[in-house]
Amino acid sequence: MHRCVFRLCLFLDAAKIVVEEVERLEDSSKKNAVSFKKLNAHTISIFWGEEQEVHYRFSDLQRACPCANCVDESTGIRKVSPLDIDDCVEATAIELVGRYGIKFQFSSGCSTGIYSYNALKKIESVTF
Ligand SMILES: [Zn+2]
Repeated sequence: MHRCVFRLCLFLDAAKIVVEEVERLEDSSKKNAVSFKKLNAHTISIFWGEEQEVHYRFSDLQRACPCANCVDESTGIRKVSPLDIDDCVEATAIELVGRYGIKFQFSSGCSTGIYSYNALKKIESVTF
């Protein structure tokens, strides 16, 4: 085989490997993408990637609210008692924050807290 043709073959093989690897990574990032769906006024379903779907009540989420109204920023001590949060609290807006977390606007007022994915996974989920 002529040397140039041999080099071209090597280049094409390498290019094919790169294309396959990029496709594999794109596939796995789709599988791991977090998304959510509001099930009803009080419950959200969060999809942690393709396989895992977890339901949370908005009241349980607000009990873990990380906003400055709920948690003292210097001490980390919770300022609002979980008992003071109504079980019927709703979310008026829900927004993904980059690849990091989710921001909820609750009917009872809290709207600035960003729940990191790690923090959300620690919150008690509900089963039906
Ligand atoms: Zn709050």
